[in-house]
Amino acid sequence: MLAKPALHQGFKRYQSGLAVLLGDAAHAMVPTLGQGATMATEDSVVLTHHAAPEADLTAALARYEHQRRPRTTALVRRAERTSRLMSVSSPAGLALRDSAIRAMSKVVPALMLRGFDGVTDWYPPVTPQDPRSHGTHVTG
Ligand SMILES: Cc1cc2nc3c(=O)[nH]c(=O)nc-3n(C[C@H](O)[C@H](O)[C@H](O)COP(=O)(O)OP(=O)(O)OC[C@H]3O[C@@H](n4cnc5c(N)ncnc54)[C@H](O)[C@@H]3O)c2cc1C
Repeated sequence: MLAKPALHQGFKRYQSGLAVLLGDAAHAMVPTLGQGATMATEDSVVLTHHAAPEADLTAALARYEHQRRPRTTALVRRAERTSRLMSVSSPAGLALRDSAIRAMSKVVPALMLRGFDGVTDWYPPVTPQDPRSHGTHVTG
C-alpha cells in the first residue's frame, strides 16, 4: 500500500523550562532540501552560544528558541513546497514542471540558484564586540 508521508508541522514551542528540543525533534522536515542535519548543527551552535556563558539557563533557552524558530519554520515550509513540486505525478503536471525547470535553467540559470537564498547564507552568532560579527540570517 502506498501512503503519502505525513508532513511534520513542528511544535509550537521548542522550550519548556529547562527542557529544549533541537534538530529533527524540534523541526523535522522532508529531505527535499537536504538541510535537516544542517539545521540540527546550526541549532547546536546557537544553543551553545546562548547557554554557555549564561547564568539564567531558562532565559538562554528562550533566546535560542527565539533565534532559531523563524529560520527552521521557513525551511520546513520551503522543504514542503519543494516536496509538493517533486511529487507531481500527472503526465500534464510532470510535463509542465519539467519544461519550466528546463527553460528556466537555460534562460535564467541564476534564478535557479536563487532557490538557495536564505538557506546557505547563514552565519553563526558571535559576540557583538567581535569584529567578525555578521549577525544571523533568518530569511526563508
Ligand atoms: C532520505 C534522507 C536524506 C537526507 N538528506 C540530508 C542531507 O543531504 N543533508 C542534510 O543536512 N540532512 C539530510 N537529511 C536529514 C538528516 O538526516 C536529519 O535532519 C538529521 O539526522 C537530524 O539529526 P538529529 O540529531 O536531530 O536526529 P537523528 O539523526 O535522528 O538523531 C537522533 C538520535 O537519537 C537516538 N534516539 C532516539 N530515541 C532515543 C531514546 N529514547 N534514547 C536514546 N537515544 C534515542 C536515535 O537512535 C538517533 O541516533 C536526510 C534525511 C533523510 C531521511
